[in-house]
Amino acid sequence: MQKKKKLNLSTKILLFMLLGALLGLISNKEISILPYKYYEILETYIFSPIGKMFINSIKMLVVPMVFVSLVNGVAQIGDLKKLGRVGVKTISIYIITTAIAITIGLILALLIKPGSNSTLSIANLNFKAQNSIPFIDIIVNMIPTNPLKSMTEDNMLQIIVFSILLGVSLTSINKDKSKTILNFFDALNDCILKIIEFIMKTAPVGVFCLIAKVIATLGLSSIINLALYMLTILLALFLHLTLVYTGILTFIAKLNPIIFFKKFWSVMTLAFSTSSSNATLPVNMDVVEKKLGVSKSILGFTLPLGATINMDGTAIMQGVATIFIAQLFNINISLSQLVTVVLTATLASIGTAGVPGVGMITLSMVLQSIGLPVEGIAMIIGVDRILDMCRTVVNITGDAIVTLCVAKSENELDAEIFYKTEETQLNFSE
Ligand code: ASP
Repeated sequence: MQKKKKLNLSTKILLFMLLGALLGLISNKEISILPYKYYEILETYIFSPIGKMFINSIKMLVVPMVFVSLVNGVAQIGDLKKLGRVGVKTISIYIITTAIAITIGLILALLIKPGSNSTLSIANLNFKAQNSIPFIDIIVNMIPTNPLKSMTEDNMLQIIVFSILLGVSLTSINKDKSKTILNFFDALNDCILKIIEFIMKTAPVGVFCLIAKVIATLGLSSIINLALYMLTILLALFLHLTLVYTGILTFIAKLNPIIFFKKFWSVMTLAFSTSSSNATLPVNMDVVEKKLGVSKSILGFTLPLGATINMDGTAIMQGVATIFIAQLFNINISLSQLVTVVLTATLASIGTAGVPGVGMITLSMVLQSIGLPVEGIAMIIGVDRILDMCRTVVNITGDAIVTLCVAKSENELDAEIFYKTEETQLNFSE
């Protein structure tokens, strides 16, 4: 008897995502093939609660995962000199790629001119923007006054600072004493990965519910009006991913990008459906370790840090949005203002938390830096969710590629695992 071939997890996620999108489309308020009132019942009692449970179950792991893996990662690097070297390399690549990303976004926005010929006036706006946090406060607030409070409040930068200090201190105290604690953190790390495997089995259903809801509730007319703005961002995201990141992977890390994308695809679909770097982090770490062969000591440091500070997709959106809003209100932007945008958008993306929609809030910091009306955010907020999904994919792919690059340069990449083709590499891949 012929055994039925089981779909692997990535294919299942993709399939359910398409089905969810289809359901969302036919029940969209403005298309209404399936009457919206029936869809609303489904959404209230099935899609919203299941989608939320899926997101919650992943989010549940974020704080323990960042804490445990960073302490573990830093302590396993062991030697402080190496830690400094890895840290400098990682942060420099993160910042340089972000600045390149914004520049690509700005150039495309200036060429495509998505906001020109607009008849909009600032008087039409009735939107109150939230205040952005001054950059100096982001730096000052990185030092926690109470690490437990940072954990209950999901304050990633504070958790990162505390975990790095704990990891460093573990390498500096007596080895006999630190051994017990290190074994404890190592075992805890394995437990968290086990929980991820369980949760990932439910991913297709979770993704189905999330996508159906997004597509069903989008206003179609606003999407058409802002199509050019969206296209500019999508093009910039695509170019950044294919030219900059694939370039880094191919020419600096000297790894095969096709193999990378084949193995990394499932993480990208998760980022797309959750719009959150943080929520994607646990699965990103698992895939980068088990499928791509990076040692825990490197990825345990670079990935949580990347999910918090490396947001190239967000930076691209902020660059394009700034030009778009200026064009909408017929405001000319000088070269020095463009440089200011590159600088502030780099900082704003560092300060953007890896959760849905935060890039829109930190955008106000960029707009204010060159005196643009923050109220302009009202023009783009309607289509932001769909762009957020796409930019989050670029954000987390960047984290993984920089991690591979740093791991390769530190001889912490197992090429055999990277080039291994069997689907059985990950337990949850079936
Ligand atoms: N959703 C993005 C992320 O988690 C952040 C943003 O741009 O809003 O990576």
